[in-house]
Amino acid sequence: MNYVSVIKDAPEARIILVRIGEIALKGLNRSTFEKNLYRNLREKLKDVGAPDIHWSQSRFYIVPVSLPFDYAKAMETASRVFGVVSTSPALACRSDFEEIKKAAVKVAGEKLEALKSGGLTGPVRFKVETRRGAKSFTMTSPEISCELGGVLLDTYPELVVDVNEPDFILYCEVREESFLYTDIYKAKGGMPIGSNGKACLLLSGGIDSPVAGYMVAKRGVKICAVHFFSYPYTSERAKEKVLELAKIMSAYCGEIKVMVVPYTEVQLAIHENCRDELGTVIMRRSMMRIAESLARKNGCAALVTGESIGQVASQTMQAMYCTDAAANMPVFRPLIAMDKVDVIAIAREIGTFETSTLPYEDCCTVFTPKHPKTRPSLEEVVAEEARYDFEKLEKEAIEGTEVFTCG
Ligand code: ATP
Ligand code: MG
Repeated sequence: MNYVSVIKDAPEARIILVRIGEIALKGLNRSTFEKNLYRNLREKLKDVGAPDIHWSQSRFYIVPVSLPFDYAKAMETASRVFGVVSTSPALACRSDFEEIKKAAVKVAGEKLEALKSGGLTGPVRFKVETRRGAKSFTMTSPEISCELGGVLLDTYPELVVDVNEPDFILYCEVREESFLYTDIYKAKGGMPIGSNGKACLLLSGGIDSPVAGYMVAKRGVKICAVHFFSYPYTSERAKEKVLELAKIMSAYCGEIKVMVVPYTEVQLAIHENCRDELGTVIMRRSMMRIAESLARKNGCAALVTGESIGQVASQTMQAMYCTDAAANMPVFRPLIAMDKVDVIAIAREIGTFETSTLPYEDCCTVFTPKHPKTRPSLEEVVAEEARYDFEKLEKEAIEGTEVFTCG
């Protein structure tokens, strides 16, 4: 793509640099990945002043179209778009050394003010780091850093150079145009949503499944969700809670289609016809069959759950083997080897924890057997399941599915 000047368009030449990580390495697929990221950034930023987004050489620039523009909000929003590795508010200028010097003085001066009003007193230590992308520029990176350092020392008497422990770093990037900045904010990383297909998340109201969905989405997978709802054993509020969770997740994952499956009849049939100790595994197999059918209708290539080894009786390796055998598509369990505390940390970070811990029952807990078998064999489970023909009830459940769009 041809470079389009950001200075020309940006008010006061202030823009946000958006760095991309892994997707820059994707060889021939790179442009597809970048197109996805471009689209996702544009979509997310339309509520934040709908800035222009420029895109050149694996780098994106958020360029406000008018002032006032909420730079902080735009950066926060961009940092939640998967594929973005970090952002920086930057001052742009022409790649001309006199211009670069002026911009450096301005950016360093602003940083100095911010540090002082933050309580920093005495000499302020700094260094300059330059990256010269435009090889046509005659000075080398060390020369540019050295010259700029000298200019800053002359301008601000309180500055001293300290390359080991600086209070701030002035970054100078010389490309088609040049960019000066002092702060780099870490973003979520991952890959742009939509660049790695689509999967169907089994979304309960608990802590784990929203985190599992988030993790898979972070790898560029578009998510839709299935929720099994056992009214009146689980309440309307339990459903609201799940929709709220999907809405919170959508800040990262984009809009989420949530399919709520009326599951009461299937659950009652399992409870009434199958041995109690195998009830949970049989229920989970039935959930998989229904989820798979809905997943296929929605163009998904995999199912995702929030299970991890040993967390409950249905999450032993043997039980999960029995569950998987009911599905004819891959079942991904991104939390499989994670401790609960680490899952909770992510749930807090993405903002689902509070909602997940609201006290409404999930259908899984409605008919929990007293002594579930932790090491069921597939043969005994299949034999027990055969005592009742679940197909008709499962088909009815699928037909009765209610669809919501969250986000
Ligand atoms: P979570 O915190 O995600 O609810 P959990 O530790 O409570 O998980 P289980 O209730 O055994 O564990 O459920 C394991 C997984 O099965 C969940 O992570 C979720 O993916 C799926 N699941 C459980 N209940 C439902 C439901 N009512 N609707 C959709 N999926 C469900
Ligand atoms: Mg649960």
